[in-house]
Amino acid sequence: MSRVLVIGCGGVASVAIQKCCQASEVFQELCIASRTKAKCDSLAEKLSKKTKTRITTAQVDADDVQQVIHLINDYKPDLVMNIALPYQDLTIMDACLACKVNYMDTANYEPEDTDDPEWRAVYEKRCQEKGFSAYFDYSWQWNYREKFEKAGLTALLGCGFDPGVTQAYCAYALKHEFDTIDTIDILDCNGGDHGYPFATNFNPEVNLREVSAPGSYWENGHWVEIPPMSIRREYDFDSVGKKDMYLLHHEEIESLAENIPDVQRIRFFMTFGQSYLTHMKCLENVGMLSTTPVLFEGKEIVPIKFLKALLPDPATLGERTHGKTNIGCIFTGKKDGRKKIYSIYNVCDHQECYQEVGSQAISYTTGVPAMCGALMLLSGKWNMTGVHTVEEFDPDPFLEALCQYGLPYRENHSPEIVD
Ligand code: NDP
Repeated sequence: MSRVLVIGCGGVASVAIQKCCQASEVFQELCIASRTKAKCDSLAEKLSKKTKTRITTAQVDADDVQQVIHLINDYKPDLVMNIALPYQDLTIMDACLACKVNYMDTANYEPEDTDDPEWRAVYEKRCQEKGFSAYFDYSWQWNYREKFEKAGLTALLGCGFDPGVTQAYCAYALKHEFDTIDTIDILDCNGGDHGYPFATNFNPEVNLREVSAPGSYWENGHWVEIPPMSIRREYDFDSVGKKDMYLLHHEEIESLAENIPDVQRIRFFMTFGQSYLTHMKCLENVGMLSTTPVLFEGKEIVPIKFLKALLPDPATLGERTHGKTNIGCIFTGKKDGRKKIYSIYNVCDHQECYQEVGSQAISYTTGVPAMCGALMLLSGKWNMTGVHTVEEFDPDPFLEALCQYGLPYRENHSPEIVD
């Protein structure tokens, strides 16, 4: 019997929670806690009619460690699933340590206030030392390794699709297809159309910060940073067709560079339509992507937060979005002394997701892996203590669970490779 506390009740969390409720033999009790309790109550009401999982709800501001500690002590969960925002990763990890409970999330830590001088000093040093300037990196959470190990607890980081499943694909390729992997290209294609000129598929603030940042990739033991959107390739995606994709910095490159022995190059590409890029550039040029507060009619507002209030809520895109996503990895390397190429990926249909859980495929492809990661921890299939990313665990039971819960993989032994 397992009792799980989910923090956050947005687009991704609502999918993960619905999937947990489909496995009520494991997820017997669930507490949905978020900043806005009304959202938790409405999801709990919708689900309680069709699941055996016993659902309760709570209000919590997860920026406040004491509030999270209080909630955990009160509910006594076996696992805390952090599906709020990356800003809350460290406070929730602190609370899990204080209460001796396992932790997982779907994205690595980044601060809400990038002007905070204390954070800025560490950030500037890291930019110099490592050579990439993204606001997020694993160092903050890797600093908890010893603490989690000593406490005999597990923290599973970044268990969505990318990061998450893409790293399981890397572990799977290394276990079953290669003796050594030379290059990894992670390709994230969203062939869906929601009919709006501009909208983001997950939290706008987190999404826009990510894609407007300089791109970077790992090559021969170091980072190479490039101006935003300056490397473009066209790729013909299975079930989607030809799309333009752009090289981005992405968090799983950092952990894969540590965990895939002798890998020579790791890149990440994401597809964007011209309308998205034109809108983003224009918003950036006028300062709407800024996280620095400005004074407006006597009140301080943060431009990107104001923009978020104007944009469609990603959780409402499901009904309007048609088309498919195709996300996966292409590898080159060697097996039995011979060179080989291989790809593994998932294709997901926006409307099928909407029919099943009322969400578009981006929330679905993130929420299902979060639930499957929780399943691995609760069933003891993944039981390494310390702070770990997905590629460090056995990929087989995880990929099996993903197939069972809606994200089957496809393989290609002669894929088109990206130059
Ligand atoms: P949403 O903005 O839809 O939802 C965020 C939720 O967190 C909301 O319920 C929000 O509450 C809650 N929240 C925010 N701040 C706090 C706080 N201080 N205390 C308690 N709850 C809080 O985001 P998404 O569902 O789109 O994304 C969720 C996570 O998934 C993000 O970390 C995102 O980066 C990650 N992600 C990962 C992907 C992957 O493949 N690995 C892909 C896509 C997303 P409220 O309703 O009050 O705003």
